[in-house]
Amino acid sequence: MIHRLAEKIWIVEGGKNGRYPFAHSLYVADGGGILVDAGSDPAEIERLRSREGIGAVVMTHYHEDHFTYLSRLPDAEVWSSIADAPAIESLETLLAWYGVLGNEWEGFYRNLFVRKFPFAPRKVARRIADGEELRFGKTRAIAVVAPGHTPGHLCLHFPDDGILFLADYDLTAFGPWYGDAPCGIGEFRRSALRLAGIAADRYVASHEGPVHRGPIAEKMRAYLSVIDRREAALREYLREPRTRAEIIARRLIYGPGRDGPWFDYGEWALHSKHLEAMIARGEAALHDGAYILT
Ligand SMILES: [Zn+2]
Repeated sequence: MIHRLAEKIWIVEGGKNGRYPFAHSLYVADGGGILVDAGSDPAEIERLRSREGIGAVVMTHYHEDHFTYLSRLPDAEVWSSIADAPAIESLETLLAWYGVLGNEWEGFYRNLFVRKFPFAPRKVARRIADGEELRFGKTRAIAVVAPGHTPGHLCLHFPDDGILFLADYDLTAFGPWYGDAPCGIGEFRRSALRLAGIAADRYVASHEGPVHRGPIAEKMRAYLSVIDRREAALREYLREPRTRAEIIARRLIYGPGRDGPWFDYGEWALHSKHLEAMIARGEAALHDGAYILT
């Protein structure tokens, strides 16, 4: 379904209310037609392409739930932030930045990306820097590069329309994702607070919601507090020494009953960021293959 936020800025709602594996897209009906992310709804995207035109797809970042239908738009240019472009252009970089190259999850993710989503490398025609002004016809957007979710996660601020597209700083109850190899908790927090400080009437997230009326400072604080709850649960679990396999199997983040490599990977990707930070602060240590509080 398409929902008009402003005369020329539309939301293309993703399946399952934008829950994974879907993500809402934006469409700018100006400047030749700009789709922001391609993981929402294949029928609506095809209708937009044939009736309105899609000259370019702006990728907020390289995650699979945002590129799902990109391969169906071979004639559109692909734009992204400078920092995220390498993972849009190469499957090997994509896998490396997920942190799965060479470990037990490589085969699963290679197959998932190539067959299910399906990833096709795209040349990034325009690389966008933080603060850059993008003009789509008469519609103006300012690029806000918000590292932490991915190294160059791109948000779009439409100052004349009072809209900020937060993409995957998504304010969901699940909480933040900062598990990619080049990312970390500190950057995520800084970016999230910066986004909450940008004044807008409406903030649009890629998942659930999708429209949050501003101000969102309180919602962002609650969203970031999930990070603290995860760390508290991990600390509690590390009162006794725990191996990597035990931490993964405990399902502190996703909860019981969520089996399989997708959840194994997610647990470790997130916990490893907490462990890294705790070890750096001298609060935890790794001895004989087991993590423990110091
Ligand atoms: Zn994402």
